[in-house]
Amino acid sequence: MKVKFLGTGTSMGVPLIGCNCAVCKSKDFRDKRLRSSVLIENNGKTILIDASSDFRLQALIYRIKKIDAIFITHPHADHVFGLDDTRIFYLRQKKPMEVWGSEFTVENIRKLFFYAFEGKRDERLVKPSFNLNVIDRRIKLFGLHISPVNAIHGDMPVSGFRFNNFGYITDFNFIEDKEIKKFFGVRTLVVGALRYSPSISHLTIDRAIEFVNRIKPEIAYFTHFSHEIMHSKLEKELPENIKPAFDGLEIEVR
Ligand SMILES: [Zn+2]
Ligand SMILES: [Zn+2]
Ligand SMILES: [Zn+2]
Repeated sequence: MKVKFLGTGTSMGVPLIGCNCAVCKSKDFRDKRLRSSVLIENNGKTILIDASSDFRLQALIYRIKKIDAIFITHPHADHVFGLDDTRIFYLRQKKPMEVWGSEFTVENIRKLFFYAFEGKRDERLVKPSFNLNVIDRRIKLFGLHISPVNAIHGDMPVSGFRFNNFGYITDFNFIEDKEIKKFFGVRTLVVGALRYSPSISHLTIDRAIEFVNRIKPEIAYFTHFSHEIMHSKLEKELPENIKPAFDGLEIEVR
């Protein structure tokens, strides 16, 4: 299974609009971060985790040709606003986009993209077409075992996902022990680690390291970074088994 990081930035992206800090001005391409999302390729199937607000750009940069399913972690703008841009795949593939998420996520996608669900379906209106699916237990899709993992993100429930031996969870500050256990045994884990300074809705770097130490994957990648994070500096500070991800990074998960 191949996993490509399409974006590794927090909700406002990096550089931040109008910011002159060292990271926002950095020449290191690893400090340029579109909004967070990954693309999974397995057995000829393409799965997107989150349709970020930068999805159109990401699809152009990484030449995404098709999407077979989309898993959404939660309905914050930076994770769902790209859904409208998946219309082109719906038009070419001639079937609705299969979108998966918790009941909470699916309900809110219905609200945010009300125009796709209301009124008549006339192809000349070029509305998005979504088939919304609730994932509340382990499912098998395209030969992969996929489990949702529940966590809390400030005042919002979020889902992490486990795809066979790959775990992905961003945007959370609290998770129950029984949910953490669902990640036990993953080889590769991706975790949102916003910044060094405290946050009431995200893990900081220190807390993300503690989280990885509980799950003990072979390797972990941090993502969803703010402009406090300079890639080259964080890379030196992290333990051997944890790496900062960057836009365009591609990894192979066994
Ligand atoms: Zn986010
Ligand atoms: Zn900045
Ligand atoms: Zn969020």
